[in-house]
Amino acid sequence: MTILLNKIDKRFGNTHVLKQVDLRVEQGELLALLGPSGSGKTTLLRMIAGLEAVDSGEVWINGKHVTNVNPRKRKVGFVFQHYALFAHMTVEQNIAYGLNVLKRSERPSKAEIKSIVEQLLALVKLEGLEKRRPSELSGGQRQRVALARALAIKPEVLLLDEPFGALDAQVRKELRRWLRTLHKETGITTVFVTHDQEEALDVADKIVVMNKGEIEQAGTPTEVYEEPNSPFVYEFLGNAY
Ligand code: ADP
Repeated sequence: MTILLNKIDKRFGNTHVLKQVDLRVEQGELLALLGPSGSGKTTLLRMIAGLEAVDSGEVWINGKHVTNVNPRKRKVGFVFQHYALFAHMTVEQNIAYGLNVLKRSERPSKAEIKSIVEQLLALVKLEGLEKRRPSELSGGQRQRVALARALAIKPEVLLLDEPFGALDAQVRKELRRWLRTLHKETGITTVFVTHDQEEALDVADKIVVMNKGEIEQAGTPTEVYEEPNSPFVYEFLGNAY
C-alpha cells in the first residue's frame, strides 16, 4: 500500500476532531474523503502532508514511517481550494517553483527544468500559456497550474483539498473529467477531499465517508451508494441524485 494511517487521534481544545482513524490508500488509487463540513477531512489530509501534527497514531507513506518527518521530505504534492499561485510569477515560473527551491544537489539543471515544465504544460493542457500571469487565467486554468506545480516535484502521493470548490458547476464538472484522465495517465496515488457527494461518486475509485472524526464506511462508489452501512451514509449519499 502507499498510505497507511494507524489509529490517528487529534483534538483541538475540547473538540475531538479525529478519533482513532485507520485508513489505507493503495498504490495508484484515487480515493475521495467525503463528509460534511467539520467532519475532519482537511485535518486528516494535512496530517498525511505533514502540515498538522498528530496527538497519537502513525502515518506511513510507501512503507516509511513518516509521522515526525518534515513535509518537504515526504514527497507529497498538494493543492488546496485557495492555494494561491504566486501573482508576480508567470505560469512556467509557478510550475518550476518547487524545483527551483530544491537543495542544489537535488535540483535539476535549467535545461531539465525547462523540459519538465513543458511536459507538465502538455499534461495539464496549458500549452501556449506559459508566459501568462495568474491574473490572466480563468479559475479552472489556475487550478490546473496549481496541479502542475504540485506534480513538478514528482510526488509519490497527490493530496487535493476541495481543489475545484471555488469554481462554478460547469467548470467543476469539466475539471473532474480531466482529473480522471490525468490520474489515468500518471497513475499517482491521490487523496481527494470533498463534501460533494456527486463529485466523489463521479471521480473516485474508492470513497471513504467521514462523520464527526470517524470513518463511517469505505468502499467503491457503487458499494457506498448502493449498500450504505449506516443511516448517516444512506442520507449523505442519498441526496446525490
Ligand atoms: P472538514 O475538512 O471535514 O470540514 P476540518 O478537518 O477542517 O473538517 O475540521 C474539523 C474540526 O476541527 C472542525 O470542528 C474545525 O473547526 C476544527 N479545526 C480544524 N482546524 C483547527 C485549528 N487549527 N484550530 C482549532 N480547531 C480546528
